[in-house]
Amino acid sequence: MKSPEILIIYTGGTIGMVENHASHALEAFDWSHLQARVPELEQFHFHIDAITLGDPIDSSDMTPDDWVRMAHAIASNYARYDGFVLLHGTDTMAYTASFLSFMLEGLAKPVVITGSQLPIGQLRTDGKENLLTSIEIAAARDAEGLPIVPEVCIFFENELMRGNRTTKINSEGFNAFRSYNFPPLAKAGIHIEYNTHEIIQHPTPASSACYALLREKTGRPQHEGLIVHDRYDNHVAILTLFPGIDESVVRAVAETPGLRALILQTFGSGNAPQKEWFISILHDLNRRGIIVVNTSQCERGTVEMGRYETSLQLLRAGVLNGYDSTLECVVTKLMFLLGHDCTQEEIRQLMSISIAGEVNVRG
Ligand code: ASP
Repeated sequence: MKSPEILIIYTGGTIGMVENHASHALEAFDWSHLQARVPELEQFHFHIDAITLGDPIDSSDMTPDDWVRMAHAIASNYARYDGFVLLHGTDTMAYTASFLSFMLEGLAKPVVITGSQLPIGQLRTDGKENLLTSIEIAAARDAEGLPIVPEVCIFFENELMRGNRTTKINSEGFNAFRSYNFPPLAKAGIHIEYNTHEIIQHPTPASSACYALLREKTGRPQHEGLIVHDRYDNHVAILTLFPGIDESVVRAVAETPGLRALILQTFGSGNAPQKEWFISILHDLNRRGIIVVNTSQCERGTVEMGRYETSLQLLRAGVLNGYDSTLECVVTKLMFLLGHDCTQEEIRQLMSISIAGEVNVRG
């Protein structure tokens, strides 16, 4: 079996920083000198290259155009490398992982995204461990020589998680990410234990049908290997409900010029106030062809519209169920689908299926 070749793509964030001893400021270091910074890499008996994608940025500055650049960097190196490790700031890592999981049709190689809470140039860094284990996972293959995790995932502090199921939960501890509604794809201890029956090996019929529709919309031919779907539309808003929210606030968001989709962050299992003005705004959004999706402020569990009277009225107003998906996933999935000229009905249908293992649709 030929030994694997791995490409590290550095996009920015804390992991690639070193402290300037004179000014004490954190500065990005040159990843082409990675070997000098992380001599442990020599112990891998396979080839590792590292590139920096544009100017390294704090992930709070990421935009969908950066996601598109990352997807194309993976695609243009896809034939040469067997796995990819994407280094990224933690703040918006879950959004990047979610969007990439939708963009990469036919992905058959690992894309492991990681970062760190402390710069790799600091003594107590968590960056080295995250980087080294991510490389090992990106290179891992089964007895038949196939990659064990051909998915977009996030590795952080001993856990490998499906990327579009993750949320950043900690700005201090090393355990920065959680996947509340989906089990880990692997756990790293003395050995790396893979949860193989949860890892996506082949696309489902629903996912294949979704990509066939998107290809038809954009006139892309079908072919073997990786296809990058790089369109998006960011005319999306999030409205977090709270007791006492004022009508003028909801109205201002609903009347945002160009708005195409609104995500409601509701209470508990998807409940919202029953005020007449509120329901009438939702009906009006529906009439105007604006997609409204119900996600819960609870991280764990699923939205169940119709379980209480307070969510039945949302259902009647045409609000879609976000089920157990993360907020990061719903925002990026909407941007992705809206960018592909789908009709409102098509978007409604595609929001209710799993494209890349991002949601468990109930009922
Ligand atoms: N603000 C940084 C970023 O997201 C934090 C980190 O790298 O973890 O880029």
